[in-house]
Amino acid sequence: MEPSSMINLKQIQKSYPVGNQSLHVLKGIDMEVGKGELVSIMGSSGSGKSTLLNIIGILDGYDSGDYHLAGTLIKNLSEKRAAHYRNKFLGFVFQSFNLLNFKNAMENVALPLYYQKVSRKKRNSIALEYLDRVGLKEWAEHLPSELSGGQKQRIAIARALISDPKVILADEPTGALDSSTSKEVMEIFKEVNKLGKTVIIVTHEHDIAEGTDRIIMLKDGIILDRNFQLAS
Ligand code: ADP
Ligand code: MG
Repeated sequence: MEPSSMINLKQIQKSYPVGNQSLHVLKGIDMEVGKGELVSIMGSSGSGKSTLLNIIGILDGYDSGDYHLAGTLIKNLSEKRAAHYRNKFLGFVFQSFNLLNFKNAMENVALPLYYQKVSRKKRNSIALEYLDRVGLKEWAEHLPSELSGGQKQRIAIARALISDPKVILADEPTGALDSSTSKEVMEIFKEVNKLGKTVIIVTHEHDIAEGTDRIIMLKDGIILDRNFQLAS
C-alpha cells in the first residue's frame, strides 16, 4: 500500500441476503484513493455504487477482502469502534440532504458536535463559521423548509465538515438539484478538496464527474475502469 493511500480496498466482496437467496453485489473490488484526491464513481443504477460507498463509510460491512482507511484495517469492528472511525475520519453528504426539519441551519450544522458533547454555545459558534464557509451565515436561523435545495445541500456539506474529517463521501449529492445549482454545489466540493480533504462523489452526471480528478467506473459490481475518460 502506498503511504499516500487514504482508501485502499482489496478484493472486496459483498452479498445481500434476499429471502433465502443471496444477491452478489460487489464481486472483488480493488480500489485505491490517495490522500487529497477528488474522485467520482459512476455506473448505472444497481451497479453497487451506494453499497461500495457505504462500506467505505463504515456504514455497512463486507463479506471478504480487506479495507484500509488511512492505514487502519477496517474489518469486523464493534459498533463502538466503527462509530469512532466514522467520527474521526468521515463526513457524509446524501442526495436527500438528511437535515432535521425542526432544527435551524446552524443547529443542523452543529449536530455532529452535539454528539461529541461540545457545549451548545461553542458548537453553535463553530457552526456559524462553517455556515460562513458555504456562504450561508445569514441563513443560520432558518429552518430547512425555508431553504432551497442548493442551500440545503450546502448546509449538509457544512455539517459534514464540522468534525474536520479526512474524507468526504457524497452519494449523488446533486441528484435532487437543477444543473446550475449542481454546479454551485460542485464548486464547494472543489474548495473542500483544495483545503486538503479527500473527496469521493458518486454521481450520474457528466458535469459533476468532469469536475473531479478521476472517474472510477463501476459495472455489475466490478471496477471496469479506474481512470475513465468521458467522451467529449
Ligand atoms: P447503485 O447505488 O449503484 O444504484 P446499490 O449499491 O444501491 O446500487 O445496489 C446494488 C444492488 O444491491 C441492487 O440490485 C440493489 O437492489 C441491491 N441492494 C442494495 N441494498 C440492499 C439491501 N440492503 N438489501 C438487499 N439488496 C440490496
Ligand atoms: Mg445508489
